Amino acid sequence: MSPTRFPISIEFFPPKTPEGVEKLRVARQQLYALKPEFCSVTFGAGGSTQEGTFSTVSAILAEGVPAASHFSCIGATHARVREQLATLKAMGVKRLVALRGDLPSGYGTGGEFHYASDLVAFIRAEMPDDFHIEVAAYPEMHPQAKSPESDVKAFAAKVQAGANSAITQYFYNPDAYFRFIEEADALGVRVPVVPGIMPIASSSQLMRFSDACGAEIPRWIRLRLQSFGDDTASIKAFGLDVVTDLCEQLRAGGAPGLHFYSMNQSAATLEICKRLGV
Ligand code: FAD
Repeated sequence: MSPTRFPISIEFFPPKTPEGVEKLRVARQQLYALKPEFCSVTFGAGGSTQEGTFSTVSAILAEGVPAASHFSCIGATHARVREQLATLKAMGVKRLVALRGDLPSGYGTGGEFHYASDLVAFIRAEMPDDFHIEVAAYPEMHPQAKSPESDVKAFAAKVQAGANSAITQYFYNPDAYFRFIEEADALGVRVPVVPGIMPIASSSQLMRFSDACGAEIPRWIRLRLQSFGDDTASIKAFGLDVVTDLCEQLRAGGAPGLHFYSMNQSAATLEICKRLGV
């Protein structure tokens, strides 16, 4: 199949060691073949990875690729956020993924921002035109939300506060995404909501992440992954089939693009995009 233009973006996390920095540099170079719309870099709880996030974002910009910095506000003051936004602007960052974030347990709930919608409103008030703002969306509901309805309303509030587009938590059930889009549309949301895609590389890692972030692994996928035991080749082959099929359904159903949670690895994202003809 000849490649077709379908927007993709790719997410990285800031490496903690010099070896990790080098491995990510190599992975990025391979992934740039996909011509991503942008690459984003996560931001640790309470700003704990700020240095690594900003230096990874700078490296991507220096490679001539648009970069988005994730940015979380929980526990932060207005003055601190103002200062960090000025730094990002000076670095040439034009896109942010604006989040509430989570504080590690024991940190309390201090700070001058309560929800991501507060951060979006703050950015728009302080620097109206400087950033394209992405926000997070949860087709299977954010784990702390009171109900699915209140969570979709909280999402719509972020868009009303000034978000330009959204990226979802990952999921393996496309119906949850399509339903979420319908519900957000009914609340007047008209911005692109791009599905977040988590390639499956390791069974234990996927279970751990999914428990933490509330993403459901459907029973049929969980059982098959368990049945492979330590057979990583079978897990990877199965994961590629399942995730490529998911992406195909999302594209056919009108998803405006795909955002890959690369986990700083290139192979799975490259193979899925090859199979999709992207
Ligand atoms: P919010 O949108 O503020 O929502 C948080 C909770 O509050 C939800 O349950 C919502 O329903 C509820 N809520 C919102 N507004 C109201 C209101 N007015 N009244 C009552 N309830 C309300 N975490 C990181 O630490 N670093 C990252 O880089 C990072 N990147 C992410 C990228 C994506 C695409 C996604 C989907 C998640 C990411 N996360 C990241 C995880 C995220 O920080 C957590 O899920 C966090 O718990 C919520 O952040 P949020 O911005 O979605 O919060």
